[in-house]
Amino acid sequence: MTQIRTRFAPSPTGFIHLGNIRSALYPWAYARANNGVFILRIEDTDLERSSQEAVEVILESMKWLGLDPDEGPYFQMQRMARYKEVLAQMLEQGLAYHCYMSQAELEALRERQMAAKQKPRYDGTWRPEPGKTLPPIPPGVQPVIRFRNPTTGSVVWDDKVKGRIEISNEELDDLVIARPDGTPTYNFCVVVDDIDMGITHVIRGDDHVNNTPRQINIFRALGKEPPVYAHLPTVLNEQGEKMSKRNGAKPVTQYRDEGFLADAVLNYLARLGWSHGDDEIFTREQFLQWFDLDHLGKSAGQFDEAKLRWVNSQH
Ligand code: GLU
Repeated sequence: MTQIRTRFAPSPTGFIHLGNIRSALYPWAYARANNGVFILRIEDTDLERSSQEAVEVILESMKWLGLDPDEGPYFQMQRMARYKEVLAQMLEQGLAYHCYMSQAELEALRERQMAAKQKPRYDGTWRPEPGKTLPPIPPGVQPVIRFRNPTTGSVVWDDKVKGRIEISNEELDDLVIARPDGTPTYNFCVVVDDIDMGITHVIRGDDHVNNTPRQINIFRALGKEPPVYAHLPTVLNEQGEKMSKRNGAKPVTQYRDEGFLADAVLNYLARLGWSHGDDEIFTREQFLQWFDLDHLGKSAGQFDEAKLRWVNSQH
């Protein structure tokens, strides 16, 4: 049997809060419960928003909660040479192509499509096809690289939380996988990493559901089967909004500093998106013994600090 390999892939763009770290808890538990490997990957390619302090808070929070990675942290910024190597390979194999459409032309195309009540999408001007003549290369334009997405059929996956999802390839256009300056884009890096790190189960927030069909197509183009996906519903704050630093979510380390018990926070977070019958209070060992992907919750969990205090008092 293949060994289970999961990952937590935070972007260090703000101080990690309880809603974020819940996305580490389940992949960690799934790996631990199945003799698998849990990997930490820091997605730090957004240079303007990423910070070393945010990386430190991620590491400290994971350490406090006992979510120790078996591998990593890997840093995407240190993997640029590898992404460029795969980009070159894809160009050579015709899985990707250079597109010289300027920003102004893209805007104009978008406006025409909107006026015609069509969904804005790249029209394949620079996509090579047998017998097709491409436009002359405009001087001085640095091209982007686009992934040659299939044009027929659909992408289907059985999400462990959302059930079967099917997206027609007609809905997806040729994704930009490298910018004019040659830097790779987000969805592309994630797929290269998930392949290189041998990830078998991607357990992450459902804000990534829309990226998944594109990522699956890139997996297949590279000759790999995609992993199993489980997309976790968002964690809401006490006001019912998506929990975020902007609307007051505290860094995980603040709970540590306020004296909360790591096992209690782990218990509370685990229960916020997964259940084991009616059990509210459980130990770390019980959690690892019981955890499975089949009992992940389908609706958004709502954070409640009073409840967290109660769980803490029971440990
Ligand atoms: N870096 C992404 C985030 O923080 C997660 C990407 C993933 O898990 O695939 O939202």
